[in-house]
Amino acid sequence: MAPRVAIIGAGFGGLCMAIQLERAGIRSYTVFEKADGLGGTWRDNSYPGAGCDIPSHLYSYSFEKYASWTRRYPEQPEILGYLEHCADKYDVRRKIRFRTEVRRAVFDGSQWQVTTSPPDGEAERTEAYDVVVLGVGQLNRPRLPDIPGMPDFEGVSFHSARWNHDHDLTGRRVAVIGNGSSAAQFIPRVAEQAERLYVFQRTPNWVIPKPDATFGPLARLAFRFVPGLQRAYREWIYRYAETTLYPALAQGWSVDLLKKRALGHLRDQVPDPELRAKLTPDHPPGCKRVVIDSAFYPALTRPNVDVVTDKIARIAPKGIETTEGLRAVDTIVYATGFRSTEFLTPMEIAGRGGRSLREQWAGGAEAYLGISVPNFPNMFLLYGPNTNLGHNSIVFMIECQVNHIMACLPHLSERGPIEVRPEVMAAWSRRLDAAMERMVWGAGCQSWYKTADGRVTNNWPGRTTLYRRLTARPPLDAYRPVPAG
Ligand code: NAP
Repeated sequence: MAPRVAIIGAGFGGLCMAIQLERAGIRSYTVFEKADGLGGTWRDNSYPGAGCDIPSHLYSYSFEKYASWTRRYPEQPEILGYLEHCADKYDVRRKIRFRTEVRRAVFDGSQWQVTTSPPDGEAERTEAYDVVVLGVGQLNRPRLPDIPGMPDFEGVSFHSARWNHDHDLTGRRVAVIGNGSSAAQFIPRVAEQAERLYVFQRTPNWVIPKPDATFGPLARLAFRFVPGLQRAYREWIYRYAETTLYPALAQGWSVDLLKKRALGHLRDQVPDPELRAKLTPDHPPGCKRVVIDSAFYPALTRPNVDVVTDKIARIAPKGIETTEGLRAVDTIVYATGFRSTEFLTPMEIAGRGGRSLREQWAGGAEAYLGISVPNFPNMFLLYGPNTNLGHNSIVFMIECQVNHIMACLPHLSERGPIEVRPEVMAAWSRRLDAAMERMVWGAGCQSWYKTADGRVTNNWPGRTTLYRRLTARPPLDAYRPVPAG
């Protein structure tokens, strides 16, 4: 009998899992989605200028080629449109329960009891599933900073991932706190509208150009009809990222190239030496996520924009107070990132013998291949610990994870619940630690890739070709039937 599968989240990960189950003829699954639409991060992040700095043809499923991309780098509405297209084409929308939040998942010895709070204030509901697939991602919970005085602000404030589209920024005095990839994308749009824009920068980032281009009707026709063109183009982008960008993160031959490219970009776009000095990072490139954008620096050079590097002391009712005084603003946008290392919270997950996942992960989240966790049988993660990339497409990683889970399903049907062997997990952690040594993320910077005590819990330290090989291998020997107790 086909296993009953609960998929949590209807973003890139959850949808991919649902589609592959459909394609395999397994219809006994349900997708739980707490929002009222699909798309995950691409539904949440609708700030002006939101888009992806990974090219469209690679930031998409390998099995669903799409000839409709209008640009080399997709914007948020187009990515959302692609996901809607996939959900409809593979007929998975009917299986999504929207506005239904999973509160708890408890393994009862043979099945998962999944408790949801359904829409419209109905009572909590618990249903049994054989398998749980968690596709909630790493960047789903906005992180507001802890700055004194925040509640006292008399203007309008919001997080970049919860953009207040009803608040017109025309003629406003706006403060943006943060200058990561999200801020870099919306600052150029906000700068055009606002009367004054203060960008509060704590740490400058490395920024490289985004060579965007539109695909006109001819290019789109070619992608649709020329055999192999889309595949070859996708492969070329993928290979470029693996062979040129990855070695920079592994502190290999292309570090200087990346640095030169970024410093050249800064020199070309920021003529003022004082501003250039403020924007020059002093950490190694790649230690924090490199920003890929060609409109960010020009926006910072506008006469109505100030880059403020004084330390923020507090939020006052009328603005932001730094060591140098008050910047009066009526709007604050917190582009302060996500609670990225708190995987799966606030869901409560209890595995074999009532073990709490939160307690097991108290020292930092970890999972075999980023997918499976000892003591949590028949539970699988998508975009789990140590599977984020700084150089290539997450969608590639998600597909590898879904392939692995699909390869596990027949075994757990035959043998009952299976879990990753603890010794396999321990060997995996040692291997990760060793691989992490050569990566740039440990070196001299704080980032969303790691916990407060410096453990990198989010990123994959190898090439993605290695990850594909490891996840494709029949996984049987890594797993064992659930032991008693
Ligand atoms: P982020 O990279 O975590 O950046 C957060 C920013 O807020 C940083 O500049 C940080 O400064 C600042 N910050 C946090 N707390 C602060 C405080 N108390 N006071 C002052 N500044 C503070 O978040 P993000 O920009 O939302 O991006 C998150 C990730 O989403 C990216 O790295 C990327 O992986 C993904 N993303 C991808 C794309 C894409 O095109 N593919 C686009 C957007 C986002 P410090 O640097 O000093 O900590």
